[in-house]
Amino acid sequence: MKKAKRIAKVPPYLFVQIDKQREAMKARGVDIINLGIGDPDLPTPDHITQALHQAIDNPRSFGYPPYEGTFAFREAVAFWYHKRFLIDLDPNSEVMALIGSKEGIAHLFFALLDPGDIALIPDPAYPVYKTATLLAGGRPHLLPLLEKNGFLPDLKKIPASIARKAKLMFINYPNNPTGATADADFLEEAVAFCRKYDILLCSDLAYSEIAFEGYKPLSVLEIPGAKEVAVEFHSLSKTYNCTGFRLGMAVGNSAAINALSIIKTNVDSGAYMALQMAGVEALTGSQSHLKETNGIYERRRNIVVEGLKKAGFQLQVPKAGFYIWPKVPKGYTSAKFVSELLEKTGVLVVPGSGYGKYGEGYFRISITSPDERLREAVKRVAAL
Ligand SMILES: *Cc1c(COP(=O)(O)O)cnc(C)c1O
Repeated sequence: MKKAKRIAKVPPYLFVQIDKQREAMKARGVDIINLGIGDPDLPTPDHITQALHQAIDNPRSFGYPPYEGTFAFREAVAFWYHKRFLIDLDPNSEVMALIGSKEGIAHLFFALLDPGDIALIPDPAYPVYKTATLLAGGRPHLLPLLEKNGFLPDLKKIPASIARKAKLMFINYPNNPTGATADADFLEEAVAFCRKYDILLCSDLAYSEIAFEGYKPLSVLEIPGAKEVAVEFHSLSKTYNCTGFRLGMAVGNSAAINALSIIKTNVDSGAYMALQMAGVEALTGSQSHLKETNGIYERRRNIVVEGLKKAGFQLQVPKAGFYIWPKVPKGYTSAKFVSELLEKTGVLVVPGSGYGKYGEGYFRISITSPDERLREAVKRVAAL
């Protein structure tokens, strides 16, 4: 068999070495504390799982769903966006259901890029933006997210010759992996930049509901005129603790939604309707679990932040999301530090270099583990 060239373009899986090390340690009986994956450990709220139970018993849920999502789900998305951000969306042309937002994000590149086309991709970042660019035959132009810029891309540094050729630009705030957030000034600048160069601005808003101390993350669609140049991805995964449901949405610019729908109608047949029915309950029902959930994440954030600061680590305190992004100690690369930390303490974190070259020098901690495990992890790290 001969694989397609596009497969060879995907960078090799970076954690092969770490995974081997972890397996070997597990076999020796070491108690590994895995702070690597960002997958909520808290339960999906009861009223949502109850709606799912009911929907599974509904014979109308068994068939092929409409490609763009059920009207009820798209209406629920529009309802939620209005309630949360006061943004008006037309459920018929500006909302599309996704099989998790990762699916929609990856497919959007195929809808926008011709071979050789440029995509403006942040670095470090959720790996899908870059790998989907490569799979679609595009060329990623990396936008470094530097600490001195608050982990926001410096749009003034993008050469005009690149900007004129770029088809799309991705932003993701609250950010994975840096924990950074974006204010209205930055979003306005991004919208203006994309208008000037006729670029589709793609906002990944997966963490908008995980925020602390009263901070409310913004939607890019709150910026006047944004709908003319922007689409936004959101997901039920993090907001409702249901990453396995695979349910998300793309909203905003109708031409982009339509282009995405042409790819999707040809490669998938939509999200299981029972999940969409449960999704309606999630989006339109009580949001009261968020207060509790965010209280838990905030407490965990404080455990990790205070513990690591005491141990001498440098880090920014995140206002949202569930990641901490400290610097590795002097004299280490990300990979060397993570490997040594695992070997000596059994604490597993992700090397920043796994999210791109500008992630080198950092590591990522996820706070999706119970308090006791985080306390124990911090204790072990401090004793290193
Ligand atoms: C978790 C996450 C998502 C959501 O993925 P789903 O496919 O909706 O589960 C999207 N973007 C980022 C940056 C994430 O971390």
